[in-house]
Amino acid sequence: MISLHPSLQPVYAEVLHRNPGEMEFHQAVHEVLESLTPVVRRRPEYVEASIIERICEPERQIIFRVPWVDDQGVVRINRGFRVEFNSALGPYKGGLRFHPSVYLGIVKFLGFEQIFKNALTGMPIGGGKGGSDFDPKGRSDREIMRFCQSFMTELYRHLGEYTDVPAGDTGVGGREIGYLFGQYKRITNRYESGVLTGKGVTWGGSLARTEATGYGTVFFVDQMLRARGSAFDGKRVVVSGSGNVAIYAVQKAYQLGGTVVAVSDSGGYVVEESGIDFELLREVKEVRRGRIKEYAEERGSTARYIEDGSIWDVPCDIALPCATQNELDVDGARALVGNGVQVVGEGANMPTTPGAVDLLRSAGVLFAPGKAANAGGVATSALEMQQNASRDRWSFEYTEERLADIMAGIHERCLTTAEEYGVPGDYVAGANISGFCQVADAMLAMGVI
Ligand code: NDP
Repeated sequence: MISLHPSLQPVYAEVLHRNPGEMEFHQAVHEVLESLTPVVRRRPEYVEASIIERICEPERQIIFRVPWVDDQGVVRINRGFRVEFNSALGPYKGGLRFHPSVYLGIVKFLGFEQIFKNALTGMPIGGGKGGSDFDPKGRSDREIMRFCQSFMTELYRHLGEYTDVPAGDTGVGGREIGYLFGQYKRITNRYESGVLTGKGVTWGGSLARTEATGYGTVFFVDQMLRARGSAFDGKRVVVSGSGNVAIYAVQKAYQLGGTVVAVSDSGGYVVEESGIDFELLREVKEVRRGRIKEYAEERGSTARYIEDGSIWDVPCDIALPCATQNELDVDGARALVGNGVQVVGEGANMPTTPGAVDLLRSAGVLFAPGKAANAGGVATSALEMQQNASRDRWSFEYTEERLADIMAGIHERCLTTAEEYGVPGDYVAGANISGFCQVADAMLAMGVI
């Protein structure tokens, strides 16, 4: 880890003290603070106004009980969270995650990252995140519906299209957003489309929102390659995960001429030298909600399923971690470098450990941080809000074009900011500084809030 500027050390110490045991949150804060050394030198007014301390403290943290009844009639209790982190640039915006690993530290890390990611998109949205330790795996549709209804019965009072606008994340897709929106509409007696994004396209959703995070990640990596006279075309690609982000990263990688040779889920990974079959992958994972093992079984002898082991051992030019936090560690990074990887682009949030990031960068691998590379999802959510506000519906092609432009803009902003602050070509610093300064300037203008 890089040591922090002396004026930032007490800020970090206070974060550790105030948020004990929240490792992922500590990691996310440290990574941003590391990038801010050139900022505190050049903009002492941020330090004088305690902007950095204020940004590290959420505006509001909501924790609530979610009681629901399973199909056997047993009462179950989960815990719900919403961290409304920063609203300097717009209403809180960020997804909901349903996964047994969810606790306050995960929600805070995601909400903290979201502040800067959302600022980077150039759109008027603040940062927030939420979720529950509910595990949707193996639950029937009716159980999912009852859980979502109970979750929204508590959360609705904190939401609103000008206040807080959740979306999906791990474990929360179109089905869950439908149940959540239905309950919000019922309780409030308002058809307030802009209160949730990721809605179905026939009831206020945006075309291309489902694809946006995966597509955006590939667009961003393509921009990095183009800036160096290269292209996606002809590259071998490895994508971890096989959920929403991974599936559409796979599709766009093919559309740009790459070949995806491996994907995974939490059970194992599959390698297919001739290329993963996108249609079957989507059918197994998105439609049937099956396992990657079933995909391998259906492909027969062309595919190899590996239960124990690391997907990062598969040789590739481009690696896209699209599953979960801290999934790419130092060993994985060493294997990638050994096999000649050229680019690592984070589709997931904070999938690469700090040690792995250092190793990749010192080996000269191009590294795209998630804050920049996976911002296409939230940017398209903001496009969904625009369509809702104007009661309009855009075509897939137009929305995808807007997404591609936004990703090109984020790429440009990362590079120019890194250049301006004396760290040319450093996408991590460029993303953190650009996002941070936009939020900090708004907070300065608004006084001590
Ligand atoms: P999904 O729930 O749709 O998919 C997650 C995938 O990752 C599943 O295939 C899951 O497998 C797999 N996975 C989870 N843990 C591991 C692990 N330890 N090793 C290998 N695979 C694993 O989530 P999303 O695709 O929506 O989100 C993925 C990441 O992208 C998250 O970090 C999320 O925060 C981030 N993100 C998502 C956005 C979105 O628009 N959806 C926007 C921006 C970021 P299994 O089914 O076995 O659990």
